[in-house]
Amino acid sequence: MDKMMNEYRADFPILKQKVNDEQLVYLDNAATTQKPQAVIAAIKHYYESDNANVHRGVHTLAERATEQYEAVRSKAARLLGVDDPHEIVYTKGTTEALNWVAASYGSTHLQPGDEIVLSYMEHHSNIVPWQNLAAKTGAKLKYIGLTENGQLDMVEAQKVITDKTAIVSLCQASNVLGVVNPIQEIAALAHHHGAIMVVDGAQAVPHMKVDVRELGADFYALSGHKMMGPTGIGVLWGKKELLAQMPPLEFGGEMINNVGLYQTDFKEPPYKFEGGTQNIAGVVGLGAAIDYLNSVGPDKIAEHEHHLVADLFPKLQAIPGITIYGPQDPKLRTGVLSFNLAGVHPHDLASALDMDGVAVRAGHHCAQPLMEYLGVSATARASFYLYNTKEDTDALVNAILDAKEFFLNGSF
Ligand code: PMP
Repeated sequence: MDKMMNEYRADFPILKQKVNDEQLVYLDNAATTQKPQAVIAAIKHYYESDNANVHRGVHTLAERATEQYEAVRSKAARLLGVDDPHEIVYTKGTTEALNWVAASYGSTHLQPGDEIVLSYMEHHSNIVPWQNLAAKTGAKLKYIGLTENGQLDMVEAQKVITDKTAIVSLCQASNVLGVVNPIQEIAALAHHHGAIMVVDGAQAVPHMKVDVRELGADFYALSGHKMMGPTGIGVLWGKKELLAQMPPLEFGGEMINNVGLYQTDFKEPPYKFEGGTQNIAGVVGLGAAIDYLNSVGPDKIAEHEHHLVADLFPKLQAIPGITIYGPQDPKLRTGVLSFNLAGVHPHDLASALDMDGVAVRAGHHCAQPLMEYLGVSATARASFYLYNTKEDTDALVNAILDAKEFFLNGSF
């Protein structure tokens, strides 16, 4: 029988603790998510029973480690709606995945004058690699702006994406505004102009069903730690024909077929990108996280987060002095909610909430161009996941009211 959403919480040992004598309310899931017992156990079991280097040995442990390492590739492919595990490249995370697309695909395909299109809501990891690529190739960066409601401006997108565009790279879901971008439409526009579509899926895959083919993506990046897996492991999915055209970026053991004194024959993708000993335990943990995610169901997670945000939104709006960034219609949002309380710096607010056991993030959220666009230097951000409850949204509201009382004596 299906578990009720509030029953999943018990699977996460870290959530049982108190912080500052208060029950921990963890609302920093956009930064990283907590790990269920199943993921912790899988990593422990791997080190206790199966640890060996992959692809190198014929002994039993090496075979077991290799089998698990490759089985997770197939799981990751299925998670993204594709059949071929060879389209899955293991990376350290989204940042590395996007860097590889820029450095390998970008540097071999872009000419001076080509254009790379991003949006104002991108995370630094979907800006800086492209700036670096533009500086090296003579390509030009262009940005799609946002509507007043904090959504991608599709009218502007039509103007910004042209025959000069070589790459469009956008987040599927924003780590600040909680909006989901119409990737399918943008990808169709990009392809119409002969450009490729790169998708930063860090804030999407953990929270909703994703099918990269349906989206029309050419590359898709994700981070294991944002979907209950360990840190230091992520995935770059790429179309086989594109991966095949890309030169490797790290040279050494594992990624070769044959090495001579002066020449080397590289393996086929994805292996030519995975030089040296990889984060095998991380891959095992990622596999357990994918199993857990599937056992709950991405649609159920999305629906749960929508309910939580719909519950929280009017309560937050009712607090005088609160500004919520992004769409003012909770139906248009994921479980990410950025806000400010007038007269209180978001860092002070986050510290005050921590005194009540409520963990939220404050800062620029690695999205400084977006902060500038919003006209703020920082925001507070509460971000929800499958183990959060309605009680957590109440705890947040109460903690904000406490903080307001403390900093402002309740007055404006
Ligand atoms: N893109 C988005 C939208 C993100 O939220 C993050 C993480 N905050 C990243 C990229 C980078 O992910 P990582 O640090 O795991 O590489």
